[in-house]
Amino acid sequence: MSENNEKSLKAQQVIDLLGEKLNRQIVGSLVGCVHCGMCTEACHYVLANPGDVTYAPAYKADRIRKIFKRHYDWTGRVLPRWVGAGTVNSEADLEELKDIVFGKCTNCRRCTINCPMGVDYAVFNRMARGLLVSVGIMPEGVAVVSKDQWEIGNQMGVLKEDYLDTLEWMEEELQEELEDPTVKIPVDEPDCEVVYSINPREVKYDPRSIADAAKIFHVAGESWTMPSEGWDMTNFGLFSGDDALGGSVAQRLYESVEELRGRKLVISECGHGFRSTRCEGPNWAKQDVPFEMESSVNTMLRYIKEGRIKVDKTRNPEPVTFHDSCNNARSCGLFEEPRELLNLVCMDFREMYPNRAENYCCTGGGGAMSMSEYTPRRLKSGAVKAKQLEEAGAAYVVTSCHNCVDGLSDVIRHYKLPMKVTQLVHLVANALVIEKKVAVPVEIPVEVPVPVELVPVPVGAEAEALPLAGRRILVADDEEDQLEFLATVLEDHGATIFRATTGDEVLEMARREKPDVLTLDLHMPGRDVGEVFELIRKDPELEDLKICIITGKPELRRLIYERSVRPPEGYVDKPVDEDRLLLNVRKVLEVVHQEA
Ligand code: SF4
Ligand code: SF4
Repeated sequence: MSENNEKSLKAQQVIDLLGEKLNRQIVGSLVGCVHCGMCTEACHYVLANPGDVTYAPAYKADRIRKIFKRHYDWTGRVLPRWVGAGTVNSEADLEELKDIVFGKCTNCRRCTINCPMGVDYAVFNRMARGLLVSVGIMPEGVAVVSKDQWEIGNQMGVLKEDYLDTLEWMEEELQEELEDPTVKIPVDEPDCEVVYSINPREVKYDPRSIADAAKIFHVAGESWTMPSEGWDMTNFGLFSGDDALGGSVAQRLYESVEELRGRKLVISECGHGFRSTRCEGPNWAKQDVPFEMESSVNTMLRYIKEGRIKVDKTRNPEPVTFHDSCNNARSCGLFEEPRELLNLVCMDFREMYPNRAENYCCTGGGGAMSMSEYTPRRLKSGAVKAKQLEEAGAAYVVTSCHNCVDGLSDVIRHYKLPMKVTQLVHLVANALVIEKKVAVPVEIPVEVPVPVELVPVPVGAEAEALPLAGRRILVADDEEDQLEFLATVLEDHGATIFRATTGDEVLEMARREKPDVLTLDLHMPGRDVGEVFELIRKDPELEDLKICIITGKPELRRLIYERSVRPPEGYVDKPVDEDRLLLNVRKVLEVVHQEA
């Protein structure tokens, strides 16, 4: 960090806000480090990058600590060089700090529990993220996701009609599966025992987890409901360090439970959602919460112990291991309940080592999955997790966190491990014994990792300026305006574009041009789009083609998702804006710049 005295406005704002954020916990961690180095080997970034000191927790912490010392600690004012005080002067200094606090730490807190002095680096790393966010310096993905959560109310920009349509769709699936038209996914029912909140990822990519939870509530005879508004239990404020966002999101959820007069809020399997809602939210929202909050892991375990549901573990015979989510385990103490549940619903549960509080991060913590610019670093650090997973020798890794599902899936496909990721809700639903009912599925519904080949792409300044440079994208839409909008945005970011306006054209162009990505509108003339999708998936020559569905008619998704082929890699609702389109296409591509 430069030491000249000319400060940019943003640098001064960061320094001023740091003063406002200081509290006993943060100051204790800022002054407590004795540089013993015991935390160094605790960090998965360090283990994956031997010899690179810039990944060491104490080194990273010192980048923040030195600003505190220079401006808020008397030792730094009197003897700045002696105590290693420093400052930030320019936006380049702030960008350098951004690279550390967002790109080199997942806030997993493994270093915290290995520090004899009680230094909680992750807590002030999050605080530093918040300082940068307050002056608009953050990774692109953090900005986009935060905007969606502020403006649309959930971090994946799921529209209300899409959410409600998915619940209705899952209700129909469940009625068919249980051969019982009375099975419901109740919405906005007042005075229920349980209000169930979910992660928007479930609506977009894993609707079956909603159906499985509903099946369990139904068989347990629970009085339950889901809110039509304020249903997202995730909270990007935890990742971005923005306490105002954290408070607003948590309050929205608390209010929806209060409006429905629910007696208990059950939070589906999500580590950061549980920590944000159950542990941090009341502080951010500055309010007392007048109802109980519980992870769905505890709910499912309670149902079995109370005899409200019966399970048959022989239905889950494959070897499974368990990944402790950092937020659930290290930060919220949820260690034994998932294991107890696994032993009740699976035949062969085996630990991975280390585990519980000492488990390694999935690599996707701290919002890392939304920061594609750090993907190569994240995947490299995943070598530690990959080794743990491989040594467990299981067919499935189970985790109670949607973020971990994505992080682990990436590690598994990058390191080509012969295993899949699933969650407890799927295993419990699969093991459920339903009297008089015969249509119990035999296979475990799983998150199927999508095989991704790592394709070298342009690197350096040119690639940064045009993030889709070198990519070939087939844009399929029958509405001329929409087609041109999508094509122009993608072209402006460096992609080579092909256009199709009918189902037949899509198939023909895909086979002829072999694009990297297809953005597919579900409503087009000519050959049925669902059939086109299936034909593409079954064509070995198009095995690498990634598909991003773009539709204004969420009810049409079943045309795609009900097919017994690999699901699409991405999904975007209309109306589409530029930021969301780019974020999704880049995520679908899994753009990987090979590290030197
Ligand atoms: S273990 Fe604690 S005291 Fe030692 S270097 Fe790490 S943060 Fe500092
Ligand atoms: S919080 Fe986790 S990722 Fe960050 S420095 Fe500590 S161990 Fe490493």
